[in-house]
Amino acid sequence: MNNYEITRLDYGVTRFREKFISADWRCNIWHIQGRERDLIIDTGFGLSSLSAAITEISDRPIIAVCTHSHHDHAGGLCQFENRCGHHAEAKIFAEPSRKAIVADLLDASVIRKLPYEGFDIETWCYQPAPLTGLIDDGDIIDLGDRHFHIVHVPGHSPGSVAIFEPKTGIILTGDAIYDGVLYDHLFHSVPDQLVESLNKILSMDFNIVHAGHFHSFDKDRAKIIVSEYMDGKRSMLCPIS
Ligand SMILES: [Zn+2]
Repeated sequence: MNNYEITRLDYGVTRFREKFISADWRCNIWHIQGRERDLIIDTGFGLSSLSAAITEISDRPIIAVCTHSHHDHAGGLCQFENRCGHHAEAKIFAEPSRKAIVADLLDASVIRKLPYEGFDIETWCYQPAPLTGLIDDGDIIDLGDRHFHIVHVPGHSPGSVAIFEPKTGIILTGDAIYDGVLYDHLFHSVPDQLVESLNKILSMDFNIVHAGHFHSFDKDRAKIIVSEYMDGKRSMLCPIS
């Protein structure tokens, strides 16, 4: 049974989405093909084997990077041997609790179909996934023929990172920016930091955003999203009425 919707995009990028999770909640899981190794950006809830789904399309070694430690992005990280994330959230990856991974936001409406008998979204927490690689602003991940730069973009969470490939102009932004209402009200969110991070992203020379949720978009759309956020239209603290 295939538990993922799989979409192939340009530049060796493939998007996985979990079928168990509702469309407005599930994150985008990105697979990027390199010559010597592949990159996974985010891992979803991890309610079924993501690593097995990936082996269907690639047998190269995998570096798994989580943009941050929230339940919808880091749940499958424990399935990978090579696990990277920002040091500011290292303790959460290693010792997840429902509060720390903001799973207390979850209710039954998030689940589209039960992943296994006895699954309970009200008590579920992802498995510990101690980081094997700490990443920070300026670090570069080398896939052999492709190089991805880590950009620290705190605000949504303290250890949020984006991943940028200058050669193709691809940037993967996690929950720092996507085309929806931006979550800046979580227990460890800092809205002023998110504003700085959004400006940092806009200052970069990217062509396409592969975001943590919903569809991908270009730089013009990114400017509109940021401008609307600054006007209070995309903030959870002041959502669109
Ligand atoms: Zn998040």
